Amino acid sequence: MKDLSRRQFVKLAGTSAGIVALPNLSFGSFFQNKKLGVALVGLGYYSTDLLAPALQLTKHCELRGIVTGSPEKIPVWQSKYGIKDRNVYNYENMHQLANNDDIDVVYIVLPNSMHAEYSMIAAKAGKHVWCEKPMAKTVAECQSIIDACNKNKRYLSIGYRMQHEPNTQRIIQWATEKPYGKIESLMAEAGFYNNGRDHWKLRKAMGGGAMYDMGVYSLNAARYVTGEEPIAVTASHATNRPEIFTEVDETTTFKLEFPGGAIAKCKTSFGANLNTLKVNCENGWYKLSPFQAYNGIKGTTSDDIALNTPIQNEQAKQMDDDALAIMNKSKVLVPGEEGLKDIRVVEAIYQSGKSGKRIELS
Ligand code: NAD
Repeated sequence: MKDLSRRQFVKLAGTSAGIVALPNLSFGSFFQNKKLGVALVGLGYYSTDLLAPALQLTKHCELRGIVTGSPEKIPVWQSKYGIKDRNVYNYENMHQLANNDDIDVVYIVLPNSMHAEYSMIAAKAGKHVWCEKPMAKTVAECQSIIDACNKNKRYLSIGYRMQHEPNTQRIIQWATEKPYGKIESLMAEAGFYNNGRDHWKLRKAMGGGAMYDMGVYSLNAARYVTGEEPIAVTASHATNRPEIFTEVDETTTFKLEFPGGAIAKCKTSFGANLNTLKVNCENGWYKLSPFQAYNGIKGTTSDDIALNTPIQNEQAKQMDDDALAIMNKSKVLVPGEEGLKDIRVVEAIYQSGKSGKRIELS
């Protein structure tokens, strides 16, 4: 082993990463031929364009139910996905899922401010909960979701799909293996051009703003590439379109200080397309760009190792990983505690952005 060059080590580690990246694999479950029934709550963009199509590709779960406040969507979804009448709910009666054995998992895909309330309704109905990122608006809300799932002995996963993606999993492993030595600094930028059309993402009360929407990708990445929790944060907000961004941040820049000495310089924006993660170490660097796209996550290293393992569908992989964890009674890859850790830092980022002060995280 001592004769292996760093390049060889990184290549070998990559091979094994491909194996260990499949969490919770138990061959027993392959022969059960049982799929978990999933109900999507909120039939907006992400459910319609990404999750429902991905559920057609999953091996271990299937789309069986919907919860919607828009009656006109019901026949469209029923005919497209063969959803039975008894598996259609609205926000007022979704607690009746408690009496429905077709549905094992409830996936919350609502505006951010609604995640806590509906995740808790799902847990109380005895269903496992998958909740989209950001987990909720506040740490207190995140904790209430975790408590509800624990109390009802239900699984809870947060929809950080990148943590299920193989190239991302490889650099997550490097947080421990450190093939390029100590991590000194990193840069994580995530954003897209939001055209300013009226939408809940522009409303503070709904959990809008670039930081909640895209900034959590930069933050989550800074945490998973270092494998550490930040000890201090300094942040600032800016906008080029004050007439649109009257309530929420258009651009947030934040610096995270990690206990091992690494500094993360992060940025998120609704005013620019940003999609790069670069990690600088004492003996080299590696980066993914894009690092948070729906497909084609890829990158390279200072010694030209290609990080480009393909994946058929990120959302399908995420949901299959989470379904297998439930079926095998093993740990989920992204539990509620992981979503809460991000929101704890997000709260400090907004506090620092407002006060202009460096905030220490205890
Ligand atoms: P969207 O606005 O397209 O959909 C939201 C849905 O909630 C709509 O169907 C809307 O009718 C419904 N809704 C119910 N009550 C509402 C209310 N009071 N106000 C507004 N809408 C209401 O949003 P989206 O882009 O689908 O995002 C939903 C969630 O999914 C968010 O938490 C977002 O962060 C997350 N998301 C995750 C990813 C990812 O890659 N993991 C990608 C996109 C969105």
